[in-house]
Amino acid sequence: MLNEFAGFQNCKSIAIMGGTFDPIHNGHLVTAEAVRHRFNVDKVIFIPTGRPAHKMNQTVTHHEHRYLMTVLATMRNDNFDVSRIEIDREGTTYTIDTITELKKICRPDVRLYFITGADAIHQIMHWKEPERLMSLCDFVAVTRPGYDKKKLLSDIKNIKEKFPSRIHFMEVPALAISSSDIRMRAKEDAPIKYLLPQAVVDYIHKFELYQNEEDLDMSNTINLESMKEKLQSALQIKRYIHTLGVESEAMKLAEIYGTKQDKQKAQIAGLLHDCAKDYPRDLQQRLCKEYKLALDEDTIRTPQLIHAVLGAEIAKREYQITDTTILDAIRYHTTGRPHMSLLEKIIYIADYIEPNREKFDGIEEARRLAYLDLDLAMCFILADTINYVKEQGRKPHPISEEALQYYKQYQEDSNE
Ligand code: NAP
Repeated sequence: MLNEFAGFQNCKSIAIMGGTFDPIHNGHLVTAEAVRHRFNVDKVIFIPTGRPAHKMNQTVTHHEHRYLMTVLATMRNDNFDVSRIEIDREGTTYTIDTITELKKICRPDVRLYFITGADAIHQIMHWKEPERLMSLCDFVAVTRPGYDKKKLLSDIKNIKEKFPSRIHFMEVPALAISSSDIRMRAKEDAPIKYLLPQAVVDYIHKFELYQNEEDLDMSNTINLESMKEKLQSALQIKRYIHTLGVESEAMKLAEIYGTKQDKQKAQIAGLLHDCAKDYPRDLQQRLCKEYKLALDEDTIRTPQLIHAVLGAEIAKREYQITDTTILDAIRYHTTGRPHMSLLEKIIYIADYIEPNREKFDGIEEARRLAYLDLDLAMCFILADTINYVKEQGRKPHPISEEALQYYKQYQEDSNE
């Protein structure tokens, strides 16, 4: 790493251009040049992300492709460099680790600017060690045309009230170009020429990137090991063993009923479904208030249900899951609901039949049905769960009753 950064040791100021760069485009390059000019920095270092903490559930192109495209895009500018620091680092990518490492080898008085999309600023308080991070570098939040600046400026104000920080803001018209648009164009065979350097266009064509789903493999970015480590410390041992059981059962079901991507989502949702369950009750309630989660009266009356609603929020905030199908599978894994998605059914069913559960009446029948027809299994498990809740003298949540009616009707219709 020292060699890689050897050229920066004497720089008085450095801008770090952090991003997924999937792919890098002219908007990124114009931004980097504009920041270099405005803040008079000596170098801009492009740092493609490795396994981003905030994208565990998203499909991202393999890091070597993203790195090589970034090298190709920047090679004609002497003020630009590319670093492998994040893609070579084991485990999840956190900006604080990158800045700390860079600080160690630069002059003590170096001024660092971290350039990133303005969206990141809204999330920054949830990054690792936000206070220390902001004490180590300035942030430059760049926006594309049409961005809601009012919200951004109010968030910047809030952050500055909490921590001493230097956050700058820059609108870059060239950021009308976006990586997601380029990916979509490449997939649809629409032209991408002039949106990004020709060398990168050629690279995308040569390796046929962004052509189909197979290019996008979630396992490149999901750091399941660090997710499991975090869960292990958040859950009691018995619950963690159950979680691993749900993970494996959900993957098996998804392999039968879904696509490769469903299987990856099932794994994540299976792992995270109970992520908030062992939080003490008072903490659960406090967090629901703090996050302004709208709990209906029936959920408030049944504290056993709160962990699912809170779990979806924790998955978003703590595990950076943004995929709404995964979040909904966590949200509805205790109650179910009518019209459940494939992933919701898989998690609901896997939670009931996972192999580490102690045997109880009905589990074998549920297992048999799960591998025959998911809707029949839903009907069976919902009915059994509602009965169990009633036997305990509790009132089932109305949405579970609605779900049961829905799946019963579904069963009758399909028998006709
Ligand atoms: P992203 O979610 O991919 O991007 C969000 C939006 O910002 C996209 O519209 C993207 O446009 C734009 N954007 C991202 N980086 C940009 C840049 N440098 N210049 C201009 N526009 C940019 O965000 P990301 O790229 O993955 O992450 C940005 C940086 O923040 C990375 O270095 C990442 O490691 C860091 N980060 C750290 C943490 C943490 O430490 N916990 C958490 C989140 C992010 P395009 O799609 O067109 O690029």
